[in-house]
Amino acid sequence: MENIVYLCTLFNESIMIKTVIAGPCSVESREQLRQITAALSAMPRVSLIRAGVWKPRTRPGGFEGLGEPALQWMQELAQEYGVQYCCEVARPEHVELCQRYGVTTVWIGARTTGNPFMVEELCAALAGSGMTVLVKNPTSPDVSLWLGAIERVQQAGVAAVSAVHRGFAMYHNHGYRNEPLWEVPMTLRREMPQIPLLCDPSHIGGRSDLVAQLANTAAQFDYDGLMVEVHPDPESALTDVPQQLTPAAFADLLSSLPSVASHLSPVTSQQLLPLRRQIDEIDHELLSLLARRMEMSRQISFIKRELQMPVYQSNRWADVVADRMEQAAALGLDADFTRALLEKIHGESIRVQLADEA
Ligand code: PEP
Ligand code: MN
Repeated sequence: MENIVYLCTLFNESIMIKTVIAGPCSVESREQLRQITAALSAMPRVSLIRAGVWKPRTRPGGFEGLGEPALQWMQELAQEYGVQYCCEVARPEHVELCQRYGVTTVWIGARTTGNPFMVEELCAALAGSGMTVLVKNPTSPDVSLWLGAIERVQQAGVAAVSAVHRGFAMYHNHGYRNEPLWEVPMTLRREMPQIPLLCDPSHIGGRSDLVAQLANTAAQFDYDGLMVEVHPDPESALTDVPQQLTPAAFADLLSSLPSVASHLSPVTSQQLLPLRRQIDEIDHELLSLLARRMEMSRQISFIKRELQMPVYQSNRWADVVADRMEQAAALGLDADFTRALLEKIHGESIRVQLADEA
């Protein structure tokens, strides 16, 4: 019985990217949109075609999108190929134009999400529209701004809202166009577990050779979907040349995603169960040890007070860190992880000692 229950749990926990949105960064011509629509409409996993109609450029002077004519082509090609499109909206007029041309899914771009005034204006236009709205993360790693934009959209009465993780602009970057900072979307998911979470690996990576790997990482983080930039001829693109995939590379990406079936075998569940039990036990032990350690800190604080010693003893702490880092290295634990953990424990120890002072 227990194993049956465990199999069901595994089913719920299995890796599954449900929604796949793909398409060019921008609509550039009727022929370009037709070509990409023909290619993507032949891929059953693609549920929606993305294509920017108004392009918010960080610096002025670039291609800023074709506007209304692009929407007309979308309407025609949607009929011809039996597909649906989505595009970015940044102004209330954009929402009205999308409605006029039958585009019923829109996204709020990263530069708009970070501005509550603009989100508010957009929400006034979205109210009662029946549209599906995807909210990209703001360019800064500020989860409240992202949550706030989603809440505003929900308060406008939009029932279908999803979040899109497209990475965060940093002064120093580590090989990505926008740092993924996976902990930020994980915080969003914890706060809003009912909101589907999609990953845009194209704007995170900024390079076509990073996109498939990022999409697979997103699958491991249990994302509900992907939004990927795909162009019939990326080198000739008018925007985001380095990151757009060819349809063939995108088909490879889709087949590289983990399949559900491989995670469902009873063998996997049998192997997982005892290991998960051990992890549970170890976590309980860790917490008991931490509670004991804090109790020691509390006792030490009474003695320090009697001896009129300051709570924070920098020499002692330097010795503790050196000793534990040596042990961690011998145990094969990551140095950054160990240092961060020690800092966290020491911070709590000081808080406990100061609380006793008060
Ligand atoms: C885009 O999707 O093409 C785009 C401009 O996205 P972002 O708002 O994430 O920069
Ligand atoms: Mn783009």
